[in-house]
Amino acid sequence: PKYVYRFEEGNKDQKDLLGGKGANLAEMNNLGLPVPPGFTITTDACRAYLRDGTVPEEMTVQVTKALREVEANVGRRLGAPEDPLLVSVRSGAKFSMPGMMETVLNVGLNDKSVLGLAAKSGNERFAWDSYRRLIQMFGKTVQDIDGDLFSDALDSMKHQRGTKADTDLTTEDLKELTEQFKAIVQRETGTPFPQEPRVQLDMAIEAVFRSWNSERARIYRRRERIPHELGTAVNIVTMVFGNMGEDSGTGVCFTRDPSSGRPGVYGDILMNAQGEDVVAGIRNTEPLTDLEKHDKKSYDELLGIMRRLETHYQDMCDIEFTIERGKLWMLQVRVGKRTAGAAFRIASQLVDEGLITTDEALTRVTGEQLQNLMFPMFDASAKPAVFTKGMAASPGAAFGKIVFDNDAAEASEKAGIPCILVRRETNPDDLRGMVAANGVLTSRGGKTSHAAVVARGMGKTAVVGAENIAVDAVEKTATVGDKVLREGDEISIDGSTGEVFLGKVPVMDSPVTTYLSHGLEAALKMAADEDDIDLIKAVDRAMTHADRVRKLLVRTNADNPQDTRRALSFGAEGIGLCRTEHMFLGDRRPLVERLILSPEGSTERQAALDALEPLQKGDFKEMLQIMDGKHMTVRLIDPPLHEFLPDLLGLEVKEAVARAQGQELPEADTKMLQAVRRMHEANPMLGLRGVRLGIYLPGLFQMQMRALVQAACELKKEGKNPHPEIMVPLIGSTRELQIVRDEAEEVIKSVQAEYGVQFEVPVGCMIELPRAAMTAETIAKEADFFSFGTNDLTQTTWGFSRDDVEGVFFPQYVEAGIFGVSPFESIDVHGVGRVIAEGVARGRSTKPDLSMGICGEHGGDPLSIQFFHRVGVNYVSCSPFRVPVARLEAGRAAV
Ligand code: ADP
Ligand code: MG
Ligand code: MG
Repeated sequence: PKYVYRFEEGNKDQKDLLGGKGANLAEMNNLGLPVPPGFTITTDACRAYLRDGTVPEEMTVQVTKALREVEANVGRRLGAPEDPLLVSVRSGAKFSMPGMMETVLNVGLNDKSVLGLAAKSGNERFAWDSYRRLIQMFGKTVQDIDGDLFSDALDSMKHQRGTKADTDLTTEDLKELTEQFKAIVQRETGTPFPQEPRVQLDMAIEAVFRSWNSERARIYRRRERIPHELGTAVNIVTMVFGNMGEDSGTGVCFTRDPSSGRPGVYGDILMNAQGEDVVAGIRNTEPLTDLEKHDKKSYDELLGIMRRLETHYQDMCDIEFTIERGKLWMLQVRVGKRTAGAAFRIASQLVDEGLITTDEALTRVTGEQLQNLMFPMFDASAKPAVFTKGMAASPGAAFGKIVFDNDAAEASEKAGIPCILVRRETNPDDLRGMVAANGVLTSRGGKTSHAAVVARGMGKTAVVGAENIAVDAVEKTATVGDKVLREGDEISIDGSTGEVFLGKVPVMDSPVTTYLSHGLEAALKMAADEDDIDLIKAVDRAMTHADRVRKLLVRTNADNPQDTRRALSFGAEGIGLCRTEHMFLGDRRPLVERLILSPEGSTERQAALDALEPLQKGDFKEMLQIMDGKHMTVRLIDPPLHEFLPDLLGLEVKEAVARAQGQELPEADTKMLQAVRRMHEANPMLGLRGVRLGIYLPGLFQMQMRALVQAACELKKEGKNPHPEIMVPLIGSTRELQIVRDEAEEVIKSVQAEYGVQFEVPVGCMIELPRAAMTAETIAKEADFFSFGTNDLTQTTWGFSRDDVEGVFFPQYVEAGIFGVSPFESIDVHGVGRVIAEGVARGRSTKPDLSMGICGEHGGDPLSIQFFHRVGVNYVSCSPFRVPVARLEAGRAAV
């Protein structure tokens, strides 16, 4: 197979094979931009390596050929003593995983070529600085040597020379440091630092392959739902040097502000530095606009290229570049990660600029981003005193106790205590802590530092570069002036303003939530500033278009007036699932106990039912009234009866205590204990519940149905327009539905006659057993609608008891690649999804117009919604806060 692609051979659409970095380097090369010569080793090669433990021999041969072409092209040979070619060996997977995998710079330097580089460049100091960097990076990433050994040696060298800046070290210092570094390698590995350039190259390539499976890379992928089996490509790129002096430099830039989306010149530069220095936050960077005064020609060229790339990719780009003695080189481009707010603003701007269509704009924003914008914000009217300020790196309002390391962050998360990870700067090793923390605060680094980039990617609140804070991770203190904060102290950070507050600041609705619940005009009126106005307009534009194009209707799951109102204000087009369980709890419990405990046909049972009926009617009436004119699907009672009875263990303990004291259990308790024992089930989820309960306990379903129809009749008489629907849970056989349906029809007829009104009350069923889906063509004969209960359908299709599996062995299942994400979170398209598809097709084969919906948690999950659109159901139903998300995703699915 072809394992190696020259930059001339690839293009941006080959991310699977060449990784994002490689595909885009090829694309820039093809656009005629100044890309240093190089080539990309494919992800196929990586997968082969991870499978076999060795690189394919063919790959080695192809690397040799491609390398020799690069050598011929630049007129230098890898690591040659006189005038060496040096290369970087860079990881790059299909999906960008910033800082997660390895890159080695300056490959090809050794004891001889360092002299050649010094002579040719006329800059001895630069040559030795590059060599010591190679040994340091190579030792750490390729040879697995503890990186602190190198940085400690560097620190103590600086200390001896009485300086803090790397740049103050002299050539002699760097030579000495290089010797120390070589000694570290010899000591730690038992062999000298490899001098043979090709050996360095091959080892570095393997190290990049291996880094795909590093712990931090795996954590990152799990979080970002990136499959483990993709593998990384490796890019071999001719080195260009930003550390050759003050006419050289390196930087990163964005074609628009990745946190606000504003157009402009955004980026960070460092003069006289090599790539890694910017991202690592080791030295404080200068804003990109400063480049104009350092090197006007390169600045102008870069601005031109930025515009060209944004036009070419039709999106905001994230770019890495290096200037070597006044010559600009492009080292990386990708469509940039951005905050949720920036995503909406940028999509809208690009439409205004005529660069993308409105349909395309919809694909540029996600339900998850919308969800992020619905997070509450700090309430400015509380006027908290700003403790200190950093850069707004990733928006949101986060509060928590201070922690200084990963372990403390994870412990805090486990204990359910929100925390803020406070660091000088973060590096990829801090990922665990960032995942666990509510927010991240650093004292160094810019908007493109590791902490900022990773936090934005995760949608985690971050404030970076709060320079007034002195962070001491060893002493576990964060000091501003004479105020010392310690682990466990509470702070609040605002990732939208960069402000840091002491203690807990109250929160309020975000402008987007205000827009979603009160509409455009009200939100614009309440907007705090221009930024909010832009954001609200951009979100409105996306939502309006989504509503226009979507085929799926969006209903809500709601079982109380408050949720019903909330959902309605968020645009719900009806209630897809009104659970009735909670209507049997609280002070109604004794009635339910009486109902269960009294014998069939007894007056006692009837009395309990009669007492419950008006209460239920009240519940339904209020909700039907709020949902006036829209469908409200009421599910008859579903859970196992014993959930309404006292706990078996508690009663048994009570009995044992009484016995031990030589007493008898009171009679009521004895009766209850007997009943509880009788009703006890080994596997309640598969036991007496849903329709089974309705058939087993006559009168119960009728009572609920009567209450519902009565409530609707009363509203009808008041001139309202109620649309109740009766939904029967856990149907497995047509006959079950038929029995309930007959009862329903009788109830509807008699109640409507009583009130003297008439209207349709559809009777349908849930499809949540595979048997129901597989026999849906017959069930459809008795059903006016179907609603797929995807939670239970996932349980019953997989045979997983949700409560017993999710926290227990699912992590191992995800790790082992059995599924990428819990099937309870995102619909298992190939299994459960197929059952749904079967149910839809069979149901429609009987009744082509049968209304079908989805009412599990999946109804609000972005990926699942895409599937439900494809499978052709009529609506999804989800929790109130997910309604806007579902509207947007349904729109995205339709373009
Ligand atoms: P990451 O994916 O972590 O950003 P990169 O492969 O982009 O890693 O490389 C890390 C840093 O090294 C970047 O700042 C990049 O610009 C710099 N770099 C990579 N290759 C070269 C090269 N050939 N010449 C100069 N700098 C380079
Ligand atoms: Mg990079
Ligand atoms: Mg169910």
